[in-house]
Amino acid sequence: MRIGILGGGQLGRMLAIAGHPLGMNFRVMDPAERCPCTSLAEHIAADYRDDAALDRFAHGLDVVTYEFENVPIEAVTRLATRVPVWPPPEALAVGQDRLREKTLFRDLGIATTRFAPASSLDELVAAVASIGTPCVVKTRRMGYDGKGQAVLPENADSNAIARVWRELAGDSRGSSNPLTTTADLIVEEFVPFDAEASVIAVRSRAGEVRAYPLVRNEHRSGILRHSRAPFHGWSGSAEIGAAGGIADRATESVADILERLSYVGVLAVEFFVHAGRLIANEIAPRVHNTGHWTIEGSACGQFENHLRAIGALPLGATAMRFPGASASMVNLVGGWPDPARILEEPTAHLHLYGKSPRPGRKVGHVTVVAGHAQIDRATRRVQDLADASWA
Ligand code: AMP
Repeated sequence: MRIGILGGGQLGRMLAIAGHPLGMNFRVMDPAERCPCTSLAEHIAADYRDDAALDRFAHGLDVVTYEFENVPIEAVTRLATRVPVWPPPEALAVGQDRLREKTLFRDLGIATTRFAPASSLDELVAAVASIGTPCVVKTRRMGYDGKGQAVLPENADSNAIARVWRELAGDSRGSSNPLTTTADLIVEEFVPFDAEASVIAVRSRAGEVRAYPLVRNEHRSGILRHSRAPFHGWSGSAEIGAAGGIADRATESVADILERLSYVGVLAVEFFVHAGRLIANEIAPRVHNTGHWTIEGSACGQFENHLRAIGALPLGATAMRFPGASASMVNLVGGWPDPARILEEPTAHLHLYGKSPRPGRKVGHVTVVAGHAQIDRATRRVQDLADASWA
């Protein structure tokens, strides 16, 4: 089977690594001359808006998927006229727009933050007044790793709102004079969350849905630092007991979203956990950083299951690798420690993405799989090494 991937980053690389044993071949399209997929796939280096390159890319492929959320929707819809594209382009359009994501949650009865859109400074002032402070102002599109957002503190005045408008309207439209332009922003209630969580699930072309155990996530400077599965309590035994209940609700929510979007492939949904309740924040219509632990930590990882789904193959089991297993995934950001030091921890699996080090850049990750009794010690050991090279 010949699979096309839009985007040639580490997610594409891990898709290709998972697909080669299944007899799959890969072609990626990515504007960069070299990318993490170059050594594992045929690489067409071209802009996503280059129609001739898109046609060359599509030629002879059985199915197309994407690993980069900000590919232009026009590129995906053009490809869909020639070759099946999964997840469906509609899911990508929703995932690219925070307003459409939140509206979808609300339509499905999934708890989310209160929100209001704003496309001018006047609308932003009105939206902040209706949501109240503190609140979070975000660009509707193109935000990632905490970029394109700002927090307005309690009792923020009109000067603070104007400052946020200038900052984000520039991000949103690249305008040199943001005060006179329009911009697509969203204002969200600030959630003083106890923890962050995500669920990764997969839906097959036949409509079968399987979800991985709920994951607990920890960010640093807006970048994912650590994921742990299954989700465990954040303090005290009452919360630990509640974790089972929220995991079930997360699974129900993701199943509803998959059905509504007639989805095929892997989808991630991110949540805040506040006072024992889940509050949906966003979706990612692709394999996801908070699911990297599934490669070694579950029976069949997210990358293989995504390929099975889009390739019309039966899905693999999403349970933990062995009964009583826990998995931790630690991101390597900006640089990486000596591989030999990481692998001194016998339960650790190292993934380097073939990227050059740069501050704030995800260059690899380490997954630790161990029993509940060993996981904390093994995770700490890896985290100490990762923290020392974090840039
Ligand atoms: P996002 O790009 O929406 O995933 O936001 C990046 C990070 O900012 C999240 O992981 C949270 O830590 C924080 N954040 C985003 N939205 C909110 C919110 N409404 N309330 C509190 N924290 C938020």
